[in-house]
Amino acid sequence: MIKELIVNFALLLAFLFGVSQLYKNEKLDFKSFGIKIKTGLFTGSFGIVLMYFSIPVDSSTFVDFRGFAVLLAAHFGGFYSAVIASVLIGASRVVLFGGINWSSIIGAMNILVVAGMASLIVHKEKKYWSRWTKMITVLLVTSALSLYAALGFKSLDLLPAYLGTMMVAGFFTGYMVDYIVRAHDMFLIMKEASHKDYLTGLNNHRTFDKLFNELVTSANSKQESLSLLALDIDHFKKINDTYGHPAGDAVLQQLGKLFQESTRRMDEVCRTGGEEFAVLLPECSLEQAREVAETIRTRVEKHSFILESGQLIRLTISVGTAAYPLIAPDLLMEEADKALYRAKHNGRNQVC
Ligand code: GH3
Ligand code: MG
Ligand code: MG
Repeated sequence: MIKELIVNFALLLAFLFGVSQLYKNEKLDFKSFGIKIKTGLFTGSFGIVLMYFSIPVDSSTFVDFRGFAVLLAAHFGGFYSAVIASVLIGASRVVLFGGINWSSIIGAMNILVVAGMASLIVHKEKKYWSRWTKMITVLLVTSALSLYAALGFKSLDLLPAYLGTMMVAGFFTGYMVDYIVRAHDMFLIMKEASHKDYLTGLNNHRTFDKLFNELVTSANSKQESLSLLALDIDHFKKINDTYGHPAGDAVLQQLGKLFQESTRRMDEVCRTGGEEFAVLLPECSLEQAREVAETIRTRVEKHSFILESGQLIRLTISVGTAAYPLIAPDLLMEEADKALYRAKHNGRNQVC
């Protein structure tokens, strides 16, 4: 009995870990219908696995953790997932485990009732632990009743141990789900933060280095050109000094958007420093890069940047360009910076 319980706990844990691995690189949201169906099928199959490790109480009655598979389905996917999971589990209880008899019919009915009530609770109760407490209570009550219906007074001896175990398993599941979902979300946030700039959402300097190396290698092997733009806001310090730092931040955000709108999908826009940006343009010659830079420069010159106060301000940028294979890869950044410096030196608001 203890051995089977340990196996069941281990299965729950393995399943939850498996789910977090399955959705490793995406946000755990179960809004689309397709995901709800998949969740139902997945948790339902898990419920069937749990039944294989059930603990026999008499020749036709089993207790196991299959109910938790349905609670998980309801918690993540709501009504549709819970119904699909419970139908799968209920049908297998009859077909695979014991055929049609009093116990298996009660077991199948029980799981459908649990699915209906759990999805109702999920719909109404948004507070995490209230939701799980209510779902666990429903599962305990209905399971105890069906155990009684299947075994009669014989079940009363079993009841304290049964309820105790189910309660522990229920809160263990609730705790694990909470922990895994939070760890998963945190992981995604950290992952995003490690390669994106927090203010503009553009690629950060680390990603710029990585993309630069990848694109140079690709341009080299395909014998294609690769251009680099180094962009810097003119007299940005004055904007900060005049309108305040938050205004400067708002300008940086809007400028990042403008850069992205002015470039192709395959181009990579990066924030490489405070008010410095770089754009990598694959399959783009120096001539074409100069045109792109000129387009961006004029768009910025004509754009009105809106501050939090509603005030509109204008600004300009200077751009330096350099292109591979005219310039060797390891000098590309340096040459673009030198060109930018010349643009500044020659009076700003220009492309060099
Ligand atoms: P230049 O035309 O020569 O480029 O002059 P500049 O004032 O733009 O250049 P400078 O390097 O003197 O000043 C850059 C300013 O950018 C100084 C700094 O306060 C500001 N800055 C850097 N990062 C941020 C940021 O994240 N937010 C804001 N608001 N300002 C920033
Ligand atoms: Mg500047
Ligand atoms: Mg600067």
